[in-house]
Amino acid sequence: MYDLGDIVEMKKPHACQTNRWEIIRMGADIKIKCVNCGHIVMMTRRDFEKKMKKILEKKADSTQA
Ligand SMILES: [Zn+2]
Repeated sequence: MYDLGDIVEMKKPHACQTNRWEIIRMGADIKIKCVNCGHIVMMTRRDFEKKMKKILEKKADSTQA
C-alpha cells in the first residue's frame, strides 16, 4: 500500500524522462512530484491506482524509529 512520502514509479515516465515520483499529498485527490524537475501532478485516487506501476521506496523504512 502506498503512503505519503513514498517514491513511486508510474506506467508513463514524466516528460523529463524521469520515472520517480514522490507522493506529496494524500486526500480525495493525490499529488505526486517528479523528483527530477519538481513538476507536480494531481489526480484522483482511482486514477493514481490505475497509473501507478510500483512503489520504489517506502518513506517509513528510513524514518521510523
Ligand atoms: Zn520531471
